Amino acid sequence: MERRQTVEVRVGNIGIGGNNPIRVQTMANTDTNDIINSVEQAKRCVAAGAELIRFTTQGEREVASLAEIKRVLRSEGVDIPIIADVHFSYGVAMKAAEVVEKVRINPGNFIKPIKRSDSTDYTDEEFERERLMLQERFVEFLNVCNKHGTAVRIGVNHGSLGERMMNRYGDTPLGMAESCLELLRVCKKENFDQVVISLKASNTVLMIEAVKFLVEKMDAENFHFPLHLGVTEAGDGEDGRIKSAIGIGSLLACGIGDTIRVSLSEPPEAEIPVAFGILQATRSRITKTEYISCPSCGRTLFDLQTVVRKVKAKTSHLVGLKIAIMGCIVNGPGEMADADYGYVGAGRGKISLYKGKECVERNIPEEQAIDKLLELIEREESKL
Ligand code: SF4
Repeated sequence: MERRQTVEVRVGNIGIGGNNPIRVQTMANTDTNDIINSVEQAKRCVAAGAELIRFTTQGEREVASLAEIKRVLRSEGVDIPIIADVHFSYGVAMKAAEVVEKVRINPGNFIKPIKRSDSTDYTDEEFERERLMLQERFVEFLNVCNKHGTAVRIGVNHGSLGERMMNRYGDTPLGMAESCLELLRVCKKENFDQVVISLKASNTVLMIEAVKFLVEKMDAENFHFPLHLGVTEAGDGEDGRIKSAIGIGSLLACGIGDTIRVSLSEPPEAEIPVAFGILQATRSRITKTEYISCPSCGRTLFDLQTVVRKVKAKTSHLVGLKIAIMGCIVNGPGEMADADYGYVGAGRGKISLYKGKECVERNIPEEQAIDKLLELIEREESKL
């Protein structure tokens, strides 16, 4: 799988897209004007591994609060780039662009529509008039971003498409892609390439379809902007994690995506391990040891779950290694895929160890097998 090539967008001290690792970001759920709690939450997110953090920015008061949050974080040596999330006011977006490293705007509410979708259809003339109004405001905004080195996210949400797009295309992948593309054309014309795009929906399948559709359209127009992936309102617990893994993971597995946000109805720091787990599972960004272990069955002649737990406890620091724990010699060696090392049940009370596909120690008594596996890994890894 090859990653889709994109331009690099600089957001403060980090890059998104290009050759950068796929970035993990989150969004604070504090009141942005509550500086103390916002700073503390940002610090917890950083400790969990977040690389960018976004704050709700409803008005100028929140912009001033962002400046203070940023000042306090920097004074404590925390340099995570800050993103302002702005809806319903291009004026606020422009103010925020003077203060933070990136501003997320929603094309659906960047300007006031001239009509409502429940009123009569837009005529071509009205559609074009509103497009020009949007373009004019957006160019003003880009000029401020350009001046301050601020990046932009054009964040289209299925649930908040603009009236004009709804009226013309309905809330379809085409409508989502078009609301994004018309602004990307302006970026291209203005020679502004510091733009990240997102198309989000709470319907996982729709989100995947919309992003793939947009990528096709962008390729056709020779646009190489990086993509931010996420499933909105994914929920909490297991359901939220599964939805996010499917939505984000399916696209990553196709080489699409440059930054991800897992949206959970939980504290934002809880999103970060899920995000890194999705990146690891799609082999998009390796930050952990990978374990390949079978579910065990009637052929398993040792307590596989206990062994998995013990091996994990001793090897979780070996980032990038793939370690297999397989219940039996019949299927284990063939099915442990591309594991670097394998622990495979060889008979009652007996374990064989593998380096790649090669069996290097046979029929070790089970009581010694974990230690022998660790010795093997240490010996072999020290040769590299
Ligand atoms: S690898 Fe062997 S023990 Fe494990 S599930 Fe498959 S057949 Fe059963």
